[in-house]
Amino acid sequence: MKRFLIVGAGFSGAILANELAQNLECTIDLIDERPHIGGNCYTERDKETGVMVHTYGPHIFNTDRKDIWDYVNRFIELVPYTNRVKIVYNGAVYSMPINLHTINQFFGKTLSPEEAKEFISSVADTSIEEPKNFEEQAMKFIGKDLYKAFFYGYTKKQWGCEPTELPAAILKRLPVRFNYNDNYYNNPLQGIPRNGFTEMFEKLLDHASITVRLGVKYSDIENTAAYDHVFFTGPIDQFFDYKYGRLGYRTVYFEKGKAQGDYQGNAVINYGNEEVPYTRVHEHKHFTPWEQHEQTLYFKEYSKETEAGDVPYYPKRLTDDKEKLQKYRADAEELNGVSFLGRLATYRYMDMHHVIGEALDFSQQFTQAVQSGGKPPIFPNEEA
Ligand code: UDP
Repeated sequence: MKRFLIVGAGFSGAILANELAQNLECTIDLIDERPHIGGNCYTERDKETGVMVHTYGPHIFNTDRKDIWDYVNRFIELVPYTNRVKIVYNGAVYSMPINLHTINQFFGKTLSPEEAKEFISSVADTSIEEPKNFEEQAMKFIGKDLYKAFFYGYTKKQWGCEPTELPAAILKRLPVRFNYNDNYYNNPLQGIPRNGFTEMFEKLLDHASITVRLGVKYSDIENTAAYDHVFFTGPIDQFFDYKYGRLGYRTVYFEKGKAQGDYQGNAVINYGNEEVPYTRVHEHKHFTPWEQHEQTLYFKEYSKETEAGDVPYYPKRLTDDKEKLQKYRADAEELNGVSFLGRLATYRYMDMHHVIGEALDFSQQFTQAVQSGGKPPIFPNEEA
């Protein structure tokens, strides 16, 4: 009978616990320093309004992998949902991500798809061959005016630096479309859980071999040597007491408002102007269009650098961060009986479906290693 300690009750920790409990003879202690399970995916129904609130910001499940969609649906019901985001810039409202409607509205034109492609090529900076950063990526694909309106201010607010300092990959998350498809994501499978995400974590952790202890930090565990293996899903720099310094993260915080009826008419509205201090406003009842609520809750989202005590959200992954990460990873490789898994422990920008897929693969690898007497994986296979 093996004894495992899992640190963190987000998707990585909860899925790992569930898989290990089913596949190995073991007991599992799962701890989380927060007073609840679910990590940043935690949802809770607001007592006063009845609205399902995504406590740590909107989480819209989307994936191109049917197996992962089916996996989630084994635990909870995902109701198909299409995220249609709007963006306000200089007093007008546009559709986001950039599509034919955005282009025509912004330039006051009625271009067809082919005409719009030609027009955008004429305003884009075609001299850029290999974009080296976020700004160059934008200039190459959409040109200066659309970039300034819809990306420059928003990105500066969200990341707290010039977009020239950020990797091009961040922009590649968003499509540019020459038709009227205003779906925020390209992934074909998209949904919102009928009863929130927390229910999935309750079900994952409902197993006789799993003991969940909330409000408990890793540093509170005195005898880690009593465990056959420790799985850490918190920030890797925290695990090593920040000995090489803190990895850069942006954090977000929310200003909550309550109103009667409908506050903004849409789940998410972004704000492109730099002068508007928040990046976006989310009104959570629009994520559950099948529910009726007389009152509404909305959240203005602000972004700032992560300091001690803040929740780390977006890994910045600047050059300096990546160097520190390599040092932490090298130290991790030297340890015995500890593995690192998930967004914070691997310091990567990951969506829910990535985290879920990786946790399932990792659990399988670990199980096989135990069963065959092989070396257990320290990190997931994915690139650092
Ligand atoms: N972004 C932007 N304007 C927008 C939406 C996004 O400039 O209206 C940029 C911003 O830098 C953001 C990136 O595009 O970090 C990726 O956006 P995404 O919506 O994927 O970010 P997330 O959902 O993780 O907040």
